[in-house]
Amino acid sequence: MKPKSSQTPDPSMAETFLKYAAAPESTRQIRLRDQYGLFIDGTFRKPESGQWMDSLNPANESLLAKVAVASEQDVHRAVQAAGKAQKKWQKMPARERGKVLYRLARLIQERSRELSVIESMDGGKPIRESRDVDIPLVAAWFFYYAGWADKLQYAFPGRETTPVGVCGQIIPWNFPLLMLAWKIAPALAAGNTVVLKPAETTSLTALVFADICRDADVPPGVINIITGAAATGQALVHHPEIKKIAFTGSTAVGKWIQKAIAGTGKKYSLELGGKGANIIFEDAPLDQAVEGVINAIFFNQGHVCCAGARLLVQESVSESFLRKLKHRMSHLIVGDPLDKNTDIGAINSASQLQRIKEYINIGLAEGAQMYQSHETVPSKGYFCSPTLFTDVSQSNTVVQEEIFGPVLTVQTFRTPSEALEKANNTPYGLSGGVWTDKGSKIFQAGSEIQAGVLWSNTFNKFDPTSPFGGVKESGVGREGGLHGLYPYINLR
Ligand code: NAP
Ligand code: MG
Repeated sequence: MKPKSSQTPDPSMAETFLKYAAAPESTRQIRLRDQYGLFIDGTFRKPESGQWMDSLNPANESLLAKVAVASEQDVHRAVQAAGKAQKKWQKMPARERGKVLYRLARLIQERSRELSVIESMDGGKPIRESRDVDIPLVAAWFFYYAGWADKLQYAFPGRETTPVGVCGQIIPWNFPLLMLAWKIAPALAAGNTVVLKPAETTSLTALVFADICRDADVPPGVINIITGAAATGQALVHHPEIKKIAFTGSTAVGKWIQKAIAGTGKKYSLELGGKGANIIFEDAPLDQAVEGVINAIFFNQGHVCCAGARLLVQESVSESFLRKLKHRMSHLIVGDPLDKNTDIGAINSASQLQRIKEYINIGLAEGAQMYQSHETVPSKGYFCSPTLFTDVSQSNTVVQEEIFGPVLTVQTFRTPSEALEKANNTPYGLSGGVWTDKGSKIFQAGSEIQAGVLWSNTFNKFDPTSPFGGVKESGVGREGGLHGLYPYINLR
């Protein structure tokens, strides 16, 4: 495979090398364009709207690149390109479609260093997480669904499968390239084509992925990436030729989408918010559980829909557990996302930092006790100290609502039933964790917890073979595994 796109750069887009004085070694060779157009029908185009938005580095507030804002007209062009491409893509031998997905997976692996650095610069997450978790999983997702492309008759024995058609896909800013992979890989494997809208603050890896699509010989129009804000997403949801909407984001927007497409016959899957409980029993390996709690809430600054945002710890061990937890928190390194030692990077945007601060104030106003492990955080960029709230009750706002930041609430319990009752007492139902030596408690939690995902003696582990999704206000439908193909096929 020869890297075509790097040999024939889009003439309208000047490329720059990031070489600002303070740039760490790791960013010096990263190539970003000054501006990125819309990726429609296999090429980058200027937006009809003539509008561009800034993509910032949240760790230092510097401008990384300008990104196009797609208007309704641009969305229409992308949907038409996808519609035209779909007819050919569907007829292509399934094995050939699989090969395209394998090529994407291989090229993502080859460019994983570059993708990791850009993901961390654009979104604020620690490089250790982009490098060791996000980008390897992105490749794994494409490898996994590449394998299904020519095996759909084994996946659904005795049934005839047909693709749904053109899929509109809308993703959030917390795992930009990973959410892209969760959406695009199963859609393409099942013979659909896509128009995907990344989140406003984190479009860059999706646009580098567009370059990768050209290198991988993805036929023009099969994958279209249109950037923009909420209005662009709305235009995609409303477009009459879109047959399926796949959305990951907030519960509020998920509900709006359900209403907007009611009666249109469009298929949909929604991955929404969460407020996961992490339950620590007295018989758990406590030191490991402390690490698990840290990972559950502080991974990706807590910008994780399935974060373990509520700690439920058995009363008999709560004092010693809390002491260990605070001690561990005080050793977390908060700062430059591109430093390999950093544990907690930048909050994704000024508005998200503002939202987290508002929740912290609400927690204080409601009478909770706050502990912050770091008195100071970098003053430039958007940073938040790891935060604990104790003395909270089940009805407190910080216990009920999703904060989507490095803020953990702590409650205690006496019996397994009390723990599970508290765990289930929020509007959400995405994830949960249970730490114990006893299989019986794991089984009890498994059968009684109202959540789509339950981890035992670990947390935040993802794999393309396992379905992921929520119940209650956390969503509809599953992504990952065989289940992840259902939203993208019609079965006969
Ligand atoms: P969001 O505001 O709902 O945005 C998600 C995406 O939808 C973005 O691309 C956004 O564009 C777009 N959008 C906003 N309003 C829209 C509308 N009316 N119609 C169509 N598209 C619209 O959520 P967010 O703040 O980016 O992400 C945080 C939320 O996502 C949290 O609640 C979190 O729990 C949830 N989440 C869930 C999962 C899961 O798998 N369950 C995974 C990750 C995140 P702009 O960015 O341009 O506004
Ligand atoms: Mg950004």
